[in-house]
Amino acid sequence: ERIVDPTGNTPGGVMTVDDLAKTSPLAAELYERAPSRAKQIGKWCKRIGGLFLRMLQMVSVPLIIASLSTGILGMSGASRFKKMFSATLAYYVATSGLAILTGLAVTNIINPGLNTSLKLDVAQAQVHPATLTETLMQQVETMIPTNPFAAIANSAFLSVISFTLLFSIFTLKVGGEALVRMRQLADDSFQVMMLLTAAIIGLAPYGVFLLMIYVTATQGIAVFSALAWYMLAVASGLLFHALVTLPIIVWVLARRSPWALMKAMSPALLTAFSSASSNATLPLTINNIEKRAGVSNRTSSFVLPLGSTINMDGTALYEAVAVLFIGQLAFGANMDLTQQIAIALTALLASIGAAGIPHAGLVMMAIVLQAANLPIEYQGIILAVDRVLDMFRTSVNVWSDCCGTTVIDRLVPPATASLDGGP
Ligand code: ASP
Repeated sequence: ERIVDPTGNTPGGVMTVDDLAKTSPLAAELYERAPSRAKQIGKWCKRIGGLFLRMLQMVSVPLIIASLSTGILGMSGASRFKKMFSATLAYYVATSGLAILTGLAVTNIINPGLNTSLKLDVAQAQVHPATLTETLMQQVETMIPTNPFAAIANSAFLSVISFTLLFSIFTLKVGGEALVRMRQLADDSFQVMMLLTAAIIGLAPYGVFLLMIYVTATQGIAVFSALAWYMLAVASGLLFHALVTLPIIVWVLARRSPWALMKAMSPALLTAFSSASSNATLPLTINNIEKRAGVSNRTSSFVLPLGSTINMDGTALYEAVAVLFIGQLAFGANMDLTQQIAIALTALLASIGAAGIPHAGLVMMAIVLQAANLPIEYQGIILAVDRVLDMFRTSVNVWSDCCGTTVIDRLVPPATASLDGGP
């Protein structure tokens, strides 16, 4: 490779790195150590594509507050709220459970950890250990923010959601003029936020494109080959869940075409894929489901914000596969049924606890590894490919939220037309 002579003494101005080493070994060494061009391009793509993600993050908290309060304040009565709440939770748990079963089945069939010469390298990872009760307790604590404004300032989604829920429910209780004014304020703010979001969303194709360049330029393909079987297991489980299980649920319970829904939601699903964050994607998800899939705002404004935080089918499936895979590597055999059940239950909790941000599932994996009596350091083995799998699982997380919204919309129909005045 020829480089520009920094001294300007070479005829023609260019020289090889070896020539440079003769005059200045230090300069040559620095040159060799400099990041490759692909990485540099990748870095800039990340920076510029990152502007798009920042804009999405900018609107997410105000959008959640406006969207959730307009959804609840517009409810015709407390009974719909109760019905919707239980139906939504039932959907979350049922689909995450199915995802975990799929993950366990796929891993027991493919046996990714028994097909490879991969060795466990205990020294690699550094993850904070957490016990199951501790994690659960932390979740409950987050739902009771000591300072709701601090929660808003820190984008603590779960805290913001629970406070907005309480605020709106008690506004319903106050009723009368206050309710009318609050509903008006919520509806107006929601309209503004949706318009702003739509403007940002116009940039999505460019943002997604740049972020994809970043991932390919910096991760390369070499790293993926070593963990190919493991990735195959996660990917096929996710595909099955996304293309078979969830479409059947949409078909049977929501009575609509899952493929038309998928097409309508494709901008959100692609953004989830490239950003690896359900939270960052949320504004787009809300926009797409209302404007492109025609689902009532009364439903989506409740199901989607909550879903982006606690309904993570892809993450649940991934936790199960990853821990079973690590177990296969560690023991050279499959874990028994009791252990697999323990993995399933903790994977569900881990997915509920994981935030909708990149790599959150990886952090939560500590509790699943503990439940399977595996050292947390073993996680090191899958770190290298986590980003790529994160992209797939995040799309599935968002896809499941969308399917759930259509199901709830049909099972617990929105209020009558006169009350359903929102956009
Ligand atoms: N990145 C995922 C999400 O935002 C969470 C995870 O790491 O599994 O949905």
